[in-house]
Amino acid sequence: MRTEAVEALAKSVWEYIEEERARRPKLSVPAHGLRILVEALKLAEEFKPSQHAKRVVFSKHGVLGTGLDRLLTSVFYDVLKKQGLLDRVIVELTGAESALILDPWLRAALRAAIDIVLFYRPDRDTLRRLRWSIADYLSARTHPFVGMYYWQLFDKILSYRPRPRSIEEALEWRYFLPAWFIRRMRELLGPEEAEELFKALNEKPLISVRVNTLKARVEEIVEELRREGKEPIISERVPVILKFEGPYDFDNSRLYREGKIIIQEEASAVASLVLAPRPGMTVVDLAAAPGGKTSHMAELMRNRGIIYAFDIDRTRIKRMRMLLHRMGITIVKIFEKDARKAPKILGEEIADRVMLDAPCTSTGTIAKNPELRWRVREEGLEEIIKLQRELLEAAARLLKPGGRMLYSTCSLLPEENEENVKWFLEKHPEFRLVELTGPYDPSPWLPGAMRAWPHRHKTIGFFYALLEKKEKR
Ligand code: SAM
Repeated sequence: MRTEAVEALAKSVWEYIEEERARRPKLSVPAHGLRILVEALKLAEEFKPSQHAKRVVFSKHGVLGTGLDRLLTSVFYDVLKKQGLLDRVIVELTGAESALILDPWLRAALRAAIDIVLFYRPDRDTLRRLRWSIADYLSARTHPFVGMYYWQLFDKILSYRPRPRSIEEALEWRYFLPAWFIRRMRELLGPEEAEELFKALNEKPLISVRVNTLKARVEEIVEELRREGKEPIISERVPVILKFEGPYDFDNSRLYREGKIIIQEEASAVASLVLAPRPGMTVVDLAAAPGGKTSHMAELMRNRGIIYAFDIDRTRIKRMRMLLHRMGITIVKIFEKDARKAPKILGEEIADRVMLDAPCTSTGTIAKNPELRWRVREEGLEEIIKLQRELLEAAARLLKPGGRMLYSTCSLLPEENEENVKWFLEKHPEFRLVELTGPYDPSPWLPGAMRAWPHRHKTIGFFYALLEKKEKR
């Protein structure tokens, strides 16, 4: 791009940031609040989910449930959402090869400081504390040199201006998504629709729950939620899905504890409806934990038949066990095993239905998970695709002739979706794609497959391909 064009782009990005900032109220945070924020950001790098790390630190300092909790929580998630960009600024300011080689305390402090200076309107005292108190804090936590280094960098933070060199980099500053993802989505959807998607990925999603029809009726749950002060909306596409504004304290919710509601997105619930297992069937769920779809299938089967549920993640399996127990589901046999071994364990051609809700980049769920956006990288893609294809092979071997499998992901990338299914169909002429006609849109890249889009359908991005093994002649 020409130099003048780049200059104009950089100017427009900065003007946009300033406009957005002007809309925010003044930010006033006490010194101990800033220290708690830095500690929580530091811990969030060490253990996931970040929400848990935050809770541990806030609880240790006795701020849980206070006004300071709400204030710090919003800055905490703001930093996570912008982390990739903040780290780039750190590299520019320090000259380090990567933000990741810095001392973790310094990194956490710089992320917080850059976010607050660039995107908030800190009052004068907060700005002073951010410089002086955090420098002291770093000195105490690490080494006085680190504190001094941070203190000196602060002037550079105050005068920092972004300098995007392309449209993708400029959009990165507007939507806080990595440039490679922006480029890919613009190629796939065109610049205008891609921008609608980027906006949707930055909107705060409603809480979405599925009613467990083995234990409750939808109307009963709606009434109870209303009594709790919520205004649930019944999904038009999936009438057992309810959406309402958060926050919602699931830990203290009777409906949740009694297994009458389950956290699940509408697009995710559509997967089990599409596969449509019936009572008495033999079903295999190859990537099952934490059990959203397994439990839904068991419900559709009215708790009759059998579901073999595979996953390799012990913590997620533990959550699935608790979920199934709460929901009163008794037909699931869990295997903590690599699903690629499932045909060896269970035998070939034993299943009427196979659910393959494959591990993926999860790019369709960015709105729900603020830090995910910077974790997904183009480089890891090949490995994921290889695993997805090996799982497809296992699913093929498990199915009886006449049986059906659903290949689904919460990824937006065709490489993990349509491309995999095309590859599979070429290799397996004994399968056919069963055309899906709703409730979402046909895939533009594979006729018969279906896509849910955050900007079009107000749910997570999702892909569905229903495959049937032809009967033997
Ligand atoms: N179907 C689940 C639900 O609805 O709650 C979500 C599944 S999530 C998209 C993908 C899962 O695949 C993760 O729980 C992950 O641990 C699991 N996974 C990854 N590699 C696996 C493998 N080789 N075998 C079995 N499970 C695997």
